[in-house]
Amino acid sequence: MEEGQSTYFVEVILPLHLKGTYTYRLPAEFIPYIEIGQRVVIQFGKRKVYSSIVLEIHQRPPVEYAAKYVLDILDREPLVRGYQLKFWKWMSDYYMCSLGEVMSAALPSGLKLSSESKVVLNEEFSHDGNFETRERQVLEALSIQGELNADQIAIIIGLKSPYLVLKSLLEKQAVCLVEELKPASKPKIEAYISLNKKYHKEKALQTLFDSLEKRAPKQVSALMKYIESSRFLAGEPSPVKKKSLQKEANVTASVINSLVSKSVFVLEEREVGRLADRQAAANKEFALSEAQNRAFNELKSGFQSKNIALLHGVTSSGKTEIYIRLIEEALSRNEQVLYLVPEIALTTQLIQRLQRYFGEQVGVYHSKFSNNERVEIWTNLLTKKLHDHRIIIGARSALFVPFEKLGLVIVDEEHDSSFKQFDPAPRYNARDSAIKLATMLGAKVVLGSATPAVETIQNCIEEKYHHVTLTERFGGVQMPEILVADLKREYKRKTMKSHFSSLLTSHMQEALDNGRQIILFQNRRGYNPLWQCEEDAWTPQCVNCDVSLTYHRNVHRLKCHYCGFSMEPPTTCKACGSKKLNMVGFGTEKIENEIEKIFPKARVKRMDLDTTRRKNALSEIIASFEEREIDILVGTQMVTKGLDFNNVGVVGVMSADTMLNRPDFRAFERAFQMITQVAGRAGRSAKGERGKVVIQTFQPEHWVISNVIINDYERVVNQDLLERRNYAYPPFVRLIKISIKHRDQDLLDAGGKVLSGFLRERYGSRLLGPEYPYIPRVKNLYQKEMLLKIERKAAISVVKKDLQKILDRFSFDKMYRPIRIVIDVDPQ
Ligand code: ADP
Ligand code: ZN
Repeated sequence: MEEGQSTYFVEVILPLHLKGTYTYRLPAEFIPYIEIGQRVVIQFGKRKVYSSIVLEIHQRPPVEYAAKYVLDILDREPLVRGYQLKFWKWMSDYYMCSLGEVMSAALPSGLKLSSESKVVLNEEFSHDGNFETRERQVLEALSIQGELNADQIAIIIGLKSPYLVLKSLLEKQAVCLVEELKPASKPKIEAYISLNKKYHKEKALQTLFDSLEKRAPKQVSALMKYIESSRFLAGEPSPVKKKSLQKEANVTASVINSLVSKSVFVLEEREVGRLADRQAAANKEFALSEAQNRAFNELKSGFQSKNIALLHGVTSSGKTEIYIRLIEEALSRNEQVLYLVPEIALTTQLIQRLQRYFGEQVGVYHSKFSNNERVEIWTNLLTKKLHDHRIIIGARSALFVPFEKLGLVIVDEEHDSSFKQFDPAPRYNARDSAIKLATMLGAKVVLGSATPAVETIQNCIEEKYHHVTLTERFGGVQMPEILVADLKREYKRKTMKSHFSSLLTSHMQEALDNGRQIILFQNRRGYNPLWQCEEDAWTPQCVNCDVSLTYHRNVHRLKCHYCGFSMEPPTTCKACGSKKLNMVGFGTEKIENEIEKIFPKARVKRMDLDTTRRKNALSEIIASFEEREIDILVGTQMVTKGLDFNNVGVVGVMSADTMLNRPDFRAFERAFQMITQVAGRAGRSAKGERGKVVIQTFQPEHWVISNVIINDYERVVNQDLLERRNYAYPPFVRLIKISIKHRDQDLLDAGGKVLSGFLRERYGSRLLGPEYPYIPRVKNLYQKEMLLKIERKAAISVVKKDLQKILDRFSFDKMYRPIRIVIDVDPQ
């Protein structure tokens, strides 16, 4: 074909780590159908075939190569909206990564078909529907082979691009992508018993007892036990699990069944963990308190002059209810809402609350469970089934869905460091990116937190954000009382029981005696249990990384938390030959064991990465804590976040020192945030007595601790801002971290010298490093880090372009090309 007037090309983004975009030629028959934002199938390299996204349609043939033809168009309508492509571009510039990397993060994998996409038959689908010949061929092949990738399918159906067929099969739900197969989490159903309302009157109950007493003593004991467990006499009885009732009353199922058949008991199947529902459902018509109302109005009036507001409200002040009101108003204007949370797994309670209130309008978008749901939300949003998902709630990636009319963005717990994606690129901060997105779309943003990020406060000081505060807890609940256990003194006086101060154990005992629950928080960092020689403190190291292996008692194995390497614990010391090897350390597991010794009767559960890996495990632990089947919950960071329990009497912070002593300019900010968050779990109910928090530390006089006690976050932030200004740290400068990695330490050292030389030539003393990080080798790669500090007044986009040129110049050298460079803009 002659290249002439009617020759068109598309510029596409490939879902790869490649810089730039690629040009393909459009066959004439596709020209009428092509649109920006559609997926097209292209061949890249010798054999690989990808689905890519059309960024531009033009008539400029590429200069350096002859353009290959586009093989197929996958979508009738654009899959990605125009504003999204602009947003991707911004992200790739700002975070210094490729558009393809942004695309990979942005699209759910069900929409990213490539040679590697593997499919299997969908078991829940009857395969005798309406299929075309090629679709049938694929289904038949799958029923024999089980699993096929896109390349294999291409061969079977004799087409270069199998994607149209694949897409159609996916849409008909006849097949699923293998990575989608993580099963959706099914709620756990259990039988619950409650007493027929008829017998809630004392007289009726008495008559019932009298009538049962002689003939059915077993039934009487079941009834008695119910009255005790449901807290019937305290007023509001709550349903009791049938199984536990049976066990505690020591009766058979038939005893309870016969009470059910007599309509004494009412049997109900319900989801575990939904007990709190009933109460909250009644709250659907809640009214804001005076303080909430004031904050709500301030937010709204603030939005008249600024698009971003900080809702700075103490823990349990009822921020969620204020968000709900704001969401309602946005919905009434026919706008969409994006609700970002730090970690979706920890927000089941919040999601339930929102779903109860807004029903089907809430779309939960996250990567934890089924990919199908994500694809479904994405396509629904495109096909204008607006009423379905007007509120999208999710962690980082929810930012990428195709909104049509985004009006409000809520970033809950905005200070949380998990909003920042650490690996792989794009290493983006979802809070900051959401602000950018909202600005592009003219939406309002509410950042909410009890302990906002220092950067956010600075933005309020500079009047970029509107600052709204809420200083009291909802319902007149008091802030918890904060007590400090001086570990130095307790050790000296020998009042410690392993890692527990007498102050902590006495308050724990009191709480247990009063039937109240306890949360113990152990910061994970630096406190993993080790397997160590008693004679010379030798501990086995990972073969791939420069770290000690962590001891896992439940399986009696040593594991590396960086690369997954694991081995059986050695029985002799490699250094001195001693046979005395033991577990040392202070992880959550160790604490769990210690509690079992100190409080043998208490029911203890652990909530950390190990115990929550299994599907549903986390929500089961939360549910069983809610239902008071656990007295003491020991956990890592997880327990600090957002959980709303109403019977927690004591919260213990096992060691504040690890947090205070971190060599990081954010250490004080983070320490205060973490302690406040976990403390905020205490005493969240109006009825109970004031919650208590015991902080164990060797530095009781530390200024951060004294401010935690009086809950003066402002003082901590002001002090911190002062120091950050003096030592040039964010928010007064911007940071870019440059890490280089290679297997060969000598090459890395040499490369580090050369690269830092280039950079220093340009940036002078703004460059720190290169230095080995705390863990110099991970997964057999040595790494070195450099930190670039850029003044705020500098045009950052120019700086980044400039920096990229220097990095390219370095990589241009054959010798250093194999060194991997990782750039982290605004590192956490
Ligand atoms: P925060 O998010 O600020 O920590 P929450 O929004 O979780 O606080 O509110 C704390 C508790 O108070 C929750 O149990 C919530 O249901 C309740 N609550 C807050 N505001 C109201 C209200 N206006 N009416 C009824 N209950 C409320
Ligand atoms: Zn390792």
